[in-house]
Amino acid sequence: MQLALVEMQRRVQARVPLPWIQPDPQWLATQQAAGRPAVRFSDVPLDWTDFRLALRQTADILFRHDALDRSEHQLILSLGRDGDTLQPVVTRWYLATSGVEKEDRGERAPAGAPPSLDQVLVLALRPFLARCAEALSQRPEFSTWRHGHCPYCGWEPDFAVVTPNAERRLICGRCVAQWAFDSLTCPFCTNEDRALITTFTSRDGRYRVSACDVCRRYLKAYDARNAGRPVMVAVDTIATLPLDAAAMQRGYVG
Ligand SMILES: [Zn+2]
Ligand SMILES: [Zn+2]
Repeated sequence: MQLALVEMQRRVQARVPLPWIQPDPQWLATQQAAGRPAVRFSDVPLDWTDFRLALRQTADILFRHDALDRSEHQLILSLGRDGDTLQPVVTRWYLATSGVEKEDRGERAPAGAPPSLDQVLVLALRPFLARCAEALSQRPEFSTWRHGHCPYCGWEPDFAVVTPNAERRLICGRCVAQWAFDSLTCPFCTNEDRALITTFTSRDGRYRVSACDVCRRYLKAYDARNAGRPVMVAVDTIATLPLDAAAMQRGYVG
């Protein structure tokens, strides 16, 4: 399923143009000081025809692999068909889940929306948001970001990489951008008491899990220090499924 999703996202992303995003430096500094991300919904190069296709294909792949039941699949397909409904739903969802606007933390989904809408939208928006992160990543302002959430789209990390110089970089679960973060602090609750961070590694030492004993969440990482290749999120996420099982067995949540 992961590979089918990656393949689909690669196809979509190839069609998404690199957006021209030039945030006002003053505005960007204010956003960053407040821990708010930089990509506004209007920055996203969203072609609604392409997006509808990505949404439908994502829902189909999840349905085929039993990650979505029939009624949710139908609800999402009908949402995708109805352009008048889709646009405000996606706009609202991004505003509520990114925190990019100062005052906007309203409802993320309309009443009656299927519970899996989050998962489907995260995956379907990824190719578009990834291009935004790509467009902004060269700006020097982003090297100083030290929050646990993504500096571009505001979402949580869902993987990490330990670089050859022992720095941990978190990887956004929505736009797959990377940013540096303290290796012994929990990105979800900022707990930095080392006695309350549990770590364990895969037998070959290639992957590690950092789990927080305060909020009970965990994050996996690829340790690139002794590896012959860079992190490959899609591959490494699948290769570490046994570590997820081990973490959950110890009572942690992803
Ligand atoms: Zn992101
Ligand atoms: Zn925590």
